[in-house]
Amino acid sequence: MKKHNFSAGPCILPQEVMVKASEAVIELDGIGLSLLEISHRSKEFVAIMENARSLALELLGLEGKGYQALFLQGGASMQFLMTAYNLLDKKAGYVNTGTWSQKAIKEARLFGDIVEVATSQKENFKYIPKGFEIPSDLDYLHLTSNNTIFGTQFKEFPKTNVPLVCDMSSDIFSRQLDFAQFDLIYAGAQKNMGPAGTTLVVVKEDILGKMSRKIPSMMDYSVHVAKDSMFNTPPVFAVYVSLLTMQWLKNLGGIAAIEEINERKANLIYSEIELNPVFSGFAAKEDRSTMNATFNITDDELKDEFDEMCREAGISGINGHRSVGGYRASMYNALPLESVGVLVDIMSELEKKG
Ligand SMILES: *Cc1c(COP(=O)(O)O)cnc(C)c1O
Repeated sequence: MKKHNFSAGPCILPQEVMVKASEAVIELDGIGLSLLEISHRSKEFVAIMENARSLALELLGLEGKGYQALFLQGGASMQFLMTAYNLLDKKAGYVNTGTWSQKAIKEARLFGDIVEVATSQKENFKYIPKGFEIPSDLDYLHLTSNNTIFGTQFKEFPKTNVPLVCDMSSDIFSRQLDFAQFDLIYAGAQKNMGPAGTTLVVVKEDILGKMSRKIPSMMDYSVHVAKDSMFNTPPVFAVYVSLLTMQWLKNLGGIAAIEEINERKANLIYSEIELNPVFSGFAAKEDRSTMNATFNITDDELKDEFDEMCREAGISGINGHRSVGGYRASMYNALPLESVGVLVDIMSELEKKG
């Protein structure tokens, strides 16, 4: 039986994508060859890469606005250093909203001065800092739109003339935003877009090519743009499955349609957490993530029973990250509303028993 998959990443993908992806491993679109055994320069794969790049821009509403989409390797973690390599000349600002921001800061420090413009560290990243000042002489300001581990999410982004760089690994394609407010967006595929192995980078072309530092080819966004994201052999399977997932999203009605479903899922679990005395939410209410709901059990004696009930109902992957503890229900695009319903039913059943 297929489980209710609340894993934080890698995580659930649409079932129809799994079926199509597995078929393509055997034979791609009736060509007598597997997706995995054709040249990345073949017309079939070139079309896959072109479609994936243009569909990413289309879904984000960035077509014809001077942006390029790239499918790179090395995960979002590679982008922690690649953004700095390409854009950090002297000084950059970072908002520290948790583990992933901190990792980005650590890498960027190798390339220039880093100003931590705001942080919620003292309260274990329970909230998103707001109303902070942004120095005007920054090369860019780096944000993490959704904090996968702590379950917080920017609802509004700072207005500034400084270029904005955003790590959207765990909420890309999940909600409508004016994506043109960002100069560079990156997202590891394995949370909301596809399997591990590729990272979507969406970059505004006019911020590139201004760096005096020499950049190795593989690290240079301009090289990847010039080579249509095929400077070297791309991760063909990860790109193909990302394309299938984006096509699934488009057929569903795009980001507007999934946003509505994501809000229903989030409302369902957060209202249960609020009303049920057996559970308490971790993140500040106004900053709660629609993707990752973090919560604790208030009565430790009920923990084993809750875990057992979840196991019996086929609920998988809700243990919290070690730096927060408790539970984390990740509700990415492909997670059906029904799965959240099953979890919420168990939570309210536990209250009756308790
Ligand atoms: C998972 C995650 C990362 C790390 O991604 P990798 O592809 O494993 O390097 C970075 N940022 C955020 C917000 C994440 O959720």
